[in-house]
This record gives sequence, structure tokens and C-alpha cells, in this order.
Amino acid sequence: MYDVVIIGAGITGTMLAKDLSEYRLRVAVIDRENDIADSTTMANSAIVHTGYDPEDGTLKALLNPEGSRMYPDLCRSLGCRIREIGSYVAACGEEEEKHLRVLADRAERRGIPYVFPSVEKAREEEPNLADGVTAVLEFPTTAVIYPWEVAIACAEVAAENGTEIFLNSPCTGIGRTERGTYVVSTPERELETRVVVNAAGVGAERVASYVTENPGFEITPRKGEYYVLDSNVKLVNHVIFPVPSKEKGKGVLAVPTVYGNTLIGPNSDFTEDPGDIGTSPEGLAYVRENISRIVKNVPLNRAIRVFAGLRPVSEEADFILEEAEGLPGFVNAASIDSPGLASSPAISKYLIEHFISKRVSLVKNPDAVMTRRAPVVMADLTSDERNELIRLNPAYGRIICRCEQVSEGEILDCIRRKCGARTVKGVKKRVRPGMGRCQGGFCEPRVVEILARELEIDPTEVVLDAENSRILCGENR
Ligand SMILES: Cc1cc2nc3c(=O)[nH]c(=O)nc-3n(C[C@H](O)[C@H](O)[C@H](O)COP(=O)(O)OP(=O)(O)OC[C@H]3O[C@@H](n4cnc5c(N)ncnc54)[C@H](O)[C@@H]3O)c2cc1C
Repeated sequence: MYDVVIIGAGITGTMLAKDLSEYRLRVAVIDRENDIADSTTMANSAIVHTGYDPEDGTLKALLNPEGSRMYPDLCRSLGCRIREIGSYVAACGEEEEKHLRVLADRAERRGIPYVFPSVEKAREEEPNLADGVTAVLEFPTTAVIYPWEVAIACAEVAAENGTEIFLNSPCTGIGRTERGTYVVSTPERELETRVVVNAAGVGAERVASYVTENPGFEITPRKGEYYVLDSNVKLVNHVIFPVPSKEKGKGVLAVPTVYGNTLIGPNSDFTEDPGDIGTSPEGLAYVRENISRIVKNVPLNRAIRVFAGLRPVSEEADFILEEAEGLPGFVNAASIDSPGLASSPAISKYLIEHFISKRVSLVKNPDAVMTRRAPVVMADLTSDERNELIRLNPAYGRIICRCEQVSEGEILDCIRRKCGARTVKGVKKRVRPGMGRCQGGFCEPRVVEILARELEIDPTEVVLDAENSRILCGENR
């Protein structure tokens, strides 16, 4: 019998799993995908929003500022990257300038630091601010992270503390027993549990419908498409936002990422298909047109990739964190659209305090270790540090990805960890071979070789991402 089964291994599910792993509980996480953080947590703007944007009285307004304040310490303890680069909200004209004041007032009430620099000063910092920008509101504590790195790190900590993680395990049904427990079914196993947390992102409505005819919410995916610019393009130093609006949310922005690329996007379009993560000419055209309102000289000819992510949006326009009606112990963590990433540490705390602690007793496990060894990033080290590492382990001297300077040692480490990489994309997410200019053209065959060797499988069995996404079909000589 499990105490808690979490459905979904995105940032919401893994953050909760990490936090629960501090207690003497039997916890399982299931996900239908072949890796941690393979859905919305994999494709977003990667910003730790400070929390000035959500409307007063919402869960977002409560949990975003708190979550964002928790991030720097959290990332330090998990050995994850975070860059506190700050952000500018750029207004064009009088109407938008008035809205800056609304945002500043909200920030004031929520204890979020902000500054109104003169537009001249802002242009000194950001020479590529578009000519039409007339005023700027600065939020110095805005940060950027690698979202999937945080989710993977949380899963790693949880697994080290005994949480069971089952990938390739779609929830296909949920039953109730006479004694009030739940039985979560997957094709391979049945998990009986006291508490179920539905953290299934765009799949949350369907998961809830397995246990009730009326889930009480509808999820419609809202797509956001992006360009990724090469890391040698230096376009902006801060996150540059337009003034947000009810219809289009936070709008099209420019985001310097933790590894120096720049993201340009997203648009915001409803789609009926929860599996539709393709980009479209129309979506990308919208991104191009809209970014030019706030940032000029955007070199889209230096884009190395485009991608799209799906926001799990409900009519409530707020997070849904509640026990389902008439179903004690069945907790929905649904409609976690933006700022779900920034809020996730506070969402986890909220779920534990308001629901989980009411159903199972929380006794601290003195043996739980809540920190993670940070992965080595060779590209960050001085040459003395590199030489020392190579002397200790020559695998760190064999560079596999030339664009991102990733060594074999880093790849081996990410495969050998708890919740380690099992796929080419899993290696790419953890240590970046294939994230650079050539997008894996040179290193992918080497990564396939290493995975095959480490997992003791034939290279033809190595997959790109999903269970059936084989890359090779046989030898030709
Ligand atoms: C374009 C875009 C930009 C964004 N920008 C930001 C930002 O800058 N800052 C911010 O704070 N937030 C941002 N967000 C929101 C943020 O990405 C999400 O709030 C967050 O990633 C949601 O995490 P999650 O774990 O709830 O969902 P997910 O990451 O989607 O995880 C849900 C998991 O459930 C699994 N699942 C689904 N159905 C089943 C099933 N039947 N059985 C088993 N598993 C199942 C899925 O495989 C998935 O892994 C953005 C989102 C988008 C799309």
C-alpha cells in the first residue's frame, strides 16, 4: 500500500515527490512518458517570474511570489543553474504606461522589488530596446532556470530517498476500494494508495475523469511557439516583457537563457489536440511581428531551433489545487499554466499543508538527504580545474559535443545517476550534447554509442525519446 501516488513527473509532481521524500512515507510517481519532465516542463520560457502579474485574490498571486523567493536556495541545494538577471516590462505609449503603474502597485503589495528606470538609462543597459518603447518597469529579482533540470534534480532526490518512479506508465484507470483507498492502474501494475495527486498537466482532466463523472474543470491546451537563437548572439541582458494583457497573457518576450541562448516567443493559441507540439508558419510569424514592438535587431537568421509547448489552461484562469468533491484523498493539482514553474515550490508546500497532511501522518525521516551533487559542467571550469579532473578521470578529457564542449565524463555521470538518462534526448536534457549550433549533427552518433555501452543494449535499441523512437535500423557495413 502506498501513502501517496503522484500522477505526472513534470515540475509539479517531482517537486512534491522531493518534498514528500523528507517523510517516512511510501510514495510513487508515474508518468506516461519515457523521461522526467517530457511535457510542458520541457517547453516554456524558463522564467522564475517574481509574481507581480497574477490578479489579486488568486492562488497564483499567493503562490508565485512565495515560490519565486524559494528558488535561489532551492537551486543551490539541488545543484541547479539559476541566473538572477532581472527583467524589464517595456511599455509603448501612454495606455501601456498606465498599466506599468498597476503592476508596480501589485508588486508593492506583494513585497516584490521594482524600479522605474528612465527610458534613457534602460537603453544604456539594453541598446536593442525598440524605438517605440516609451517607459520601462524593472524587476531586478526575475531569474531564469533550466526547468527540466530542476524537475530531474527533484526526481533524483526523491528517488535517492526511496520514492519509486515508474516511467512509460500511463494512468489508464482509477478505482476505489471499500475502505476508501484508491487503485491507480497502469498497463504494467496496479498501485493501491491512500492519497492520489493528479499532476498530469494537459492530461489532468482525463485523469480526473477516471474517478469521477464530473471532474469540475476542463483543460484546453494553449500553445506557445519559440525561436532559439545561437548562444553567440548577444541581444538582451534582461528578460524583456511587453505589457501583459488578459487576452494574450504575458505576450511575446526575449529571454536570455542560463546557457546564453536567447528565446524569442511565445504566441498563445488554443489547440484541441493535447499532443500537438508542432510549430506553425502562422505561430512563428506572430512571434516575429510582436517581438519587434519591444526589441529591435533580432537576428532570426541566427535561430538554431524552433519549438512549442502547451499550457494546461482552464476557465478558472487560476491554479486548481483542491480535493475533488466527494473524493477524500484525491487531490487535483490542475490548470498549472504560467507561472506554474515559478510557483512550484510553493504549490508543493500548499498541497502538503492543505491536503496531504490531513490524510497521512507526516513523520520526518532522519536519513532523508534533501540535497543533490551538482553535475560537473566542463565548459564552466578553469583550465587548471579541467586538467585536474581529467587526471582523475580521463573520460572528462574526451569531448563528445563540440558546440557545447560536453565531455564523455559528463555524459556517463548523467546516465549513471538515479533517474539517469536512458535516451538521446534524456542525455541532451541533462548535459546538453545536441543543444548547440549543429543540433546533434556531430555528437548524436557518439551519444548513441555511449548509451548502448552503458545500458548494455544494441545501438539499434537506443531511442531518441519515446519508447518506440528508435534511431538506427541495422548495420550497413
Ligand atoms: C509556452 C509556455 C511558456 C511558459 N513559461 C513559463 C515561465 O516562464 N515561467 C513559469 O513559471 N511558467 C511558465 N509556463 C508554465 C509552466 O511551464 C507549467 O506551469 C509547468 O511546466 C507545469 O508543470 P506540470 O508538472 O504541472 O505539468 P507537465 O510538465 O505537463 O507534467 C505533467 C506530466 O503528466 C504526465 N501525464 C499526463 N497524463 C498522464 C497519464 N494519463 N498518466 C501518467 N502521466 C500522465 C505528462 O507526461 C507530464 O509529464 C509556461 C508554459 C508554456 C506552455
